[in-house]
Amino acid sequence: MNKKFLKTIITTFVVALLGVLCALFLRGCFNKTPEPEQPEAPQDTEQNTSAPQLSYEEQIGVFYKNDISGALGFIEPENKYEYVFLVGPNNKLEADYEPADLTDCGYTRQDGRATQKLRKAAAEALKAFLNEGKQCGVTDVTVTSAYRSYSYQDYLFNMYFDRDWKSGKFKTKAECEAYTLSYSTKPGTSEHQSGLCVDMHNLPSAEQSFAQEPEAKWLAENCYRFGFILRYPENKTNITGITYEPWHFRFVGRAAATEMHNLGLTLEEYIEYINVDN
Ligand SMILES: [Zn+2]
Repeated sequence: MNKKFLKTIITTFVVALLGVLCALFLRGCFNKTPEPEQPEAPQDTEQNTSAPQLSYEEQIGVFYKNDISGALGFIEPENKYEYVFLVGPNNKLEADYEPADLTDCGYTRQDGRATQKLRKAAAEALKAFLNEGKQCGVTDVTVTSAYRSYSYQDYLFNMYFDRDWKSGKFKTKAECEAYTLSYSTKPGTSEHQSGLCVDMHNLPSAEQSFAQEPEAKWLAENCYRFGFILRYPENKTNITGITYEPWHFRFVGRAAATEMHNLGLTLEEYIEYINVDN
């Protein structure tokens, strides 16, 4: 009798315990509040902290075939915004503005034209850029125009305007000037006066068909690694106000050029972007 009673007690206890455990389990399954998503914990944290500091090249995944250490101080100016500014109809340069540090930029086309010059940083960066190009199959690209003085731009613009006007395609001079302005600039508004930009290609004259050349593609894809940007891209003419010029590159310094490259921004857009962000 006692044994039977004890057996009943134990059975009841075991059943009750199973019931409680089942209830707890089911509660866990159905009422579990979802945990907030946690950002993935960094892997190999220990390894990261003990790893040597990554170089700038490694951080941005950029490597060079040539040793660019001699030019790096020019390609990467200490102040990353030193060369980040606009020159254009709303940002004119004075007629007597001539950079003090103009120097031979190398690679001037050898057809009797004067040796082309750029500001020191842009010149050294350009040499490194085209030296690298040589290692990558870009062997015949030469500089056709770099720094241009106010007076020379004045001469050029007037020459282009006269040519357009004499073509007879325009009814008024204003209409003709608007056309000339679509591919050239008035003195004081040309980037070439800044000594920071360069026209380079491998055609007899600068034409948009240059964009189809493998050399042009290499220049456009790699210019940011040397601090240059393709200043007037094809899909941004409404922003730059200048038609597509696959031959015209502007030096801005590598950090800024890399950001513009990664964000897909023109100089106008980038300046707006950093003004908002800084
Ligand atoms: Zn140009």
